[in-house]
Amino acid sequence: MPGRGWVTRVARDARPGQQMRNFFHRQGKFRPRASQDAGGDHAIPEDLWVKCPSCDELIYSRELDRNARVCPKCGHHFRLSARARITLVTDPGSFSEWDTGLQPENPLQFADLQGPYDERLVRAQARTGETEALISGTGTIDGRALALLVADFDFLGGSMGSVWGEKLVRAVERAVALRMPVLSVNASGGARMHEGIFSLMQMAKTVAGFTRLGQVAVPHFSLLVDPCYGGVTASYATVADVILAEPGARIGFAGQRVIEQITKQKLPDGFQTAEFLLAHGMIDLIVDRSLLRQTLVTLIDHHRPPGATRPDPVVVAKPTVDVVPNGIGADHELADLTTVGGASSDEPAPGGTR
Ligand SMILES: [Zn+2]
Repeated sequence: MPGRGWVTRVARDARPGQQMRNFFHRQGKFRPRASQDAGGDHAIPEDLWVKCPSCDELIYSRELDRNARVCPKCGHHFRLSARARITLVTDPGSFSEWDTGLQPENPLQFADLQGPYDERLVRAQARTGETEALISGTGTIDGRALALLVADFDFLGGSMGSVWGEKLVRAVERAVALRMPVLSVNASGGARMHEGIFSLMQMAKTVAGFTRLGQVAVPHFSLLVDPCYGGVTASYATVADVILAEPGARIGFAGQRVIEQITKQKLPDGFQTAEFLLAHGMIDLIVDRSLLRQTLVTLIDHHRPPGATRPDPVVVAKPTVDVVPNGIGADHELADLTTVGGASSDEPAPGGTR
């Protein structure tokens, strides 16, 4: 008989009066989930509705996800996890991760008020599911192969330690061997002070790695996302061939308050935002998240040397050192923007490539 099981269960489980009270008590349906926007954006309640920190609009969480976590009302760009970023940028199923076995350690036996560094690493790994704050690998964008270096701000504030530097340099060396452009997505609080001098040395190491990429005339595109500070901004992230940023991203070395305290000066409005940095020549282009893939395709094609086939042969791989480059000579200069490519030049924002 339809409904019989339900009636039997209610009759057995509920005390008189309890059934009606349970009916009005919403059990867990709207329980907040851990927000990936923690630390800047308010989620109320987190499972279903997210409050935009820019325009205060309540946005249905799934609608926000469908819109690549960009506020549909005001265009505020919410933070994205590194994995979500990779999914957004690369062709489906094309991403292959490199160096997953590299694990950070605690070379200085460092401990602070929150405990030993190695214990904090274990907690961060359990919470994020990542081994480090940087994910490296290769994938394709619209069939064009590129190497990816994507930072995860949720992992110890996206701090750059020795494993970050090692993963980055290994990835760049593969990109040199494969003549493959590199996209770095940078969100960071700076160098990882738990590793002391080892973390600071990564600034020189990463820039040296990218110098080798420049020597073989393969481009590095750097995307700065909110927030990007400290040793990452002060090293490889801002010596790229093209520096992109997301709208509203906060980018700098030291924070605004620290600079004001040291210099005893009031800084201008919008200081350290992507828009301010574009107006003052520190970055080349502000790219809306919805236009990122299209912009990267245009940039990759514009930087392709004359005579190279397009698109690249797809490399979905764990490349080894003996991979044969795709025929581009090491002595080629970067392509003249006016003669190569064919993709449209209708860039989404003012500014040019350099
Ligand atoms: Zn908004």
